[in-house]
Amino acid sequence: MNDKRRISILGATGSIGQSTIDLIARAPESYDVVALTGGRNVAALARDAIALNADVAVVAEDSALPALREALAGSGIEAAAGRAALIEAAQRPADWVMSAIVGAAGLEPGLRALQGGAALALANKESMVCAGPLMMQTARDGQGTLLPVDSEHSAVFQALIGEDLTAVERIVITASGGAFRDWPLEDLEKATPAQAATHPNWDMGQRITIDSASMFNKALELIETKEFFGIDPGMIETVVHPESMIHALVGFNDGALMAHVGMPDMRHAIGFALHYPERRALPVERLDLVTLGQMTFRPACEMRWPALRLAREVMETGGLSGAVFNAAKETALDGFIEGRISFPRMAGVVEEALTRFSATGGLIDAEVTLDNVAHADHLARQHASEIMRDGP
Ligand code: NAD
Ligand code: MG
Repeated sequence: MNDKRRISILGATGSIGQSTIDLIARAPESYDVVALTGGRNVAALARDAIALNADVAVVAEDSALPALREALAGSGIEAAAGRAALIEAAQRPADWVMSAIVGAAGLEPGLRALQGGAALALANKESMVCAGPLMMQTARDGQGTLLPVDSEHSAVFQALIGEDLTAVERIVITASGGAFRDWPLEDLEKATPAQAATHPNWDMGQRITIDSASMFNKALELIETKEFFGIDPGMIETVVHPESMIHALVGFNDGALMAHVGMPDMRHAIGFALHYPERRALPVERLDLVTLGQMTFRPACEMRWPALRLAREVMETGGLSGAVFNAAKETALDGFIEGRISFPRMAGVVEEALTRFSATGGLIDAEVTLDNVAHADHLARQHASEIMRDGP
């Protein structure tokens, strides 16, 4: 009998994807790799597909298919390309699927894997921001399990094991503060994408690293917290913790505050989700408290990081506002990366896009279905592009 676990990794060529592969490759006898997917990095995708003997490798871009075919020639591994092939690969029977595509593009593939009954390890926070109720309902309806991989949410999930949610008073999500936490506010206007993409503590993909500097990443995580744990937004707090050793804390009604502490290494959260419900040894560096010496905390200022204020509004509004928020954010982020808008302007663009969308009578309250999310996403990108074109 084959007792290997069938594994797929969506977004295998990215930062989270590569950390996942690092863990899988340490015990190849335990896993049967079904699908690996990537964007356009054919060389890395083919290398890993061959090393892990995957059934299929999928690139997002159609134009990359000939190169992928060539790289996989003679390996017996199927090569495919495009959105439909990605969705098809995500639906192939698997026991555990890593959802690590960046952005709203990761929603449908992950959702399909969950519908197929896989345990879905969710790094793609945008899925919960855009379609939290749909993701949670899908997990409840089917046999699929949803496991958080964002370090903060993995921390909360672990702190809640064996606890009763009704005893939870608050959830504290920590934030490093990103690249500009110590910059004078007036200098932010001149901040460049390269400066924003340098994270003090975590080694992550470019987009999430810039989102850390603007705290749009934290904003997404606050919304993700609300959706994942079904917690009242008023019970969710953010604190700046520059050392990034505490990943989150859960406060209970007896005054206890349970913290999840460890070195910033995503392989912890990925490995926890991989082995869940067991806790197994992981190759992460151990935290030496004496060497660390101290941990510090500061308030998360909404003047410096207006994304946090916008996240609160989105959590209160619910419905499709998360999809709008995320799509406008992705568009504004492109605008900043391409040099069309300044760093602080991103929040303004998102806020105006939310206002314009809310004015589109009743849409914001529409049911959170895949179609409605796609529609809201499309409109929000249009609004954000127009707002950027029109200037501040
Ligand atoms: P990344 O940019 O390093 O990798 C993204 C992956 O998605 C790559 O494989 C890329 O090829 C693929 N991809 C991008 N656009 C695609 C598209 N349109 N269609 C198909 N594939 C596409 O990103 P990352 O840092 O690994 O982050 C992945 C997800 O995990 C994000 O949602 C991020 O917010 C979340 N996350 C990341 C970290 C981290 O430490 N990197 C921590 C917590 C959560
Ligand atoms: Mg995180």
